[in-house]
Amino acid sequence: MAGEKEHKKGRFDNDAAASLVKELRKTFASGKTKSYEWRVAQLKGIAKLVSEKENELVEALYKDLSKPETEAHVTEISMIKSACTHALKDLKQWMKPEKVKSSILTFPSSAEIVSEPLGVVLVISPWNYPLLLSIDPVIGAIAAGNAVVLKPSEVAPATSSFFAKYVEEYVDRSAIRVVEGAVDETTALLEQKWDKIFYTGNGKVARVIMAAAAKNLTPVVLELGGKCPLVVDSNINLKVAARRIVAGKWGSNSGQTCVSPDYIITTKTFAPTLIDALKDTLENFFGKDPLQSKDMSRIVNSNHFARLSNLLDEDKVSSKIIHGGQRDEKRLYIAPTMLLDAPQDSKIMNEEIFGPLLPIITVDKLENSFDVINSKSKPLAAYLFSNDKKLEEEFVGKISAGGMLINDTILHLANPSLPFGGVGESGTGSYHGKFSFEAFSHKKAVLHRSFGGDAPARYPPYTPGKQRLVKAMLEGDMFGVICALIRLVRG
Ligand code: NAD
Repeated sequence: MAGEKEHKKGRFDNDAAASLVKELRKTFASGKTKSYEWRVAQLKGIAKLVSEKENELVEALYKDLSKPETEAHVTEISMIKSACTHALKDLKQWMKPEKVKSSILTFPSSAEIVSEPLGVVLVISPWNYPLLLSIDPVIGAIAAGNAVVLKPSEVAPATSSFFAKYVEEYVDRSAIRVVEGAVDETTALLEQKWDKIFYTGNGKVARVIMAAAAKNLTPVVLELGGKCPLVVDSNINLKVAARRIVAGKWGSNSGQTCVSPDYIITTKTFAPTLIDALKDTLENFFGKDPLQSKDMSRIVNSNHFARLSNLLDEDKVSSKIIHGGQRDEKRLYIAPTMLLDAPQDSKIMNEEIFGPLLPIITVDKLENSFDVINSKSKPLAAYLFSNDKKLEEEFVGKISAGGMLINDTILHLANPSLPFGGVGESGTGSYHGKFSFEAFSHKKAVLHRSFGGDAPARYPPYTPGKQRLVKAMLEGDMFGVICALIRLVRG
């Protein structure tokens, strides 16, 4: 794999990036990536790779994150398989030009929207779901008929090496490539002109990506994060709610998930009941000593371990710990930790946590939670647990978020009929299912006319009669059009 070797020898510089893009542009210009058959063959190649190398993938994900095998299957491998199946099943339909209505102004004509690939695109992915978040966008790029370069995260090196070793073996390497590397290699890639950049990661780097893209007017999809709130009402099935909250927070990558609940808001009166239920569920799931549980991922590396420790060690925060707090720095594990009423001006209440720490904020009335949420940047996901339909309606109406889920956590991203993406600080653009195809397509407007029915009224010299006709047409006044035509014909 060229990308890997070039990176390891430190040769993936601007020149290497430029020649890679040149090569892929040549492939794209040949037109081969546009055919239905080519797209199908690549999608099948990806599906085959994931099936045949499933065990190696599980191993890589374990090396990178100590990801439990079940989690690796459920949240990464099976998601990629189903994204491929979905794309293969619906691709013909997605590629079909969409017939749309014609207007009286263009009569006689027919109109359609033709989806065309953008060209050569770049996918930059993060470490937390290193398989899913790399290959899922690549599936969209291929389905839409693009040539694509994947730059996986150096923070998940085992999965990155897996891609470098195998991807090009299973797909057409004249159009689909992997470049491993960190900031230098990504910077070299960003110096090039792309037809789209699809970036998943944090908001700080997103600004670097957008600035680089702006130089060439390259469109971007930015899949970012933020603080995802979770509001809990008292009239709920507490046992089911506690299971779903604990699974969404600690059972998914130890909270290192973009849509993981970041903090809970509940009422002062209900908080003790909720906290007891969460503690019981935590013990059921991860035992009395969660640091030894085989069912929790570790923190990805010592930098992130230190970042999370800093959040906990702030004086005004450490006194608020009501559960957990234990850490094993050597093995990079942090126990599921809950805090009650951490101050709003603390770091933990202002930075995305992205780890196994869960602040619980109490309010007098649940409606007050809307102000707390709206005082922060727009989140990627917002959750509500309630049986109160009126509260649910208000939540949907008053809170702006990338996506929402009522009475569960995270699962909304598993429905390919829903777009997945952020709003404001949590990102721009979306994907999944048909939205992935659209993210990498240009919707080309095509109007077909024949030479018949050429209306002299649109051409000079302009006369009051022609003006009457054009005005009636623009206003959609059919009666006016007929009258104006009759007057024109009669002279
Ligand atoms: P990361 O450190 O792996 O960085 C992401 C990518 O950016 C990597 O490929 C990395 O090489 C590249 N990168 C880093 N610094 C760069 C620079 N200076 N210039 C160019 N490229 C650079 O991952 P991360 O950012 O720590 O990921 C965690 C963040 O991502 C969280 O904020 C999380 O919420 C967000 N996230 C969002 C989604 C989503 O789908 N919306 C999914 C997962 C993670």
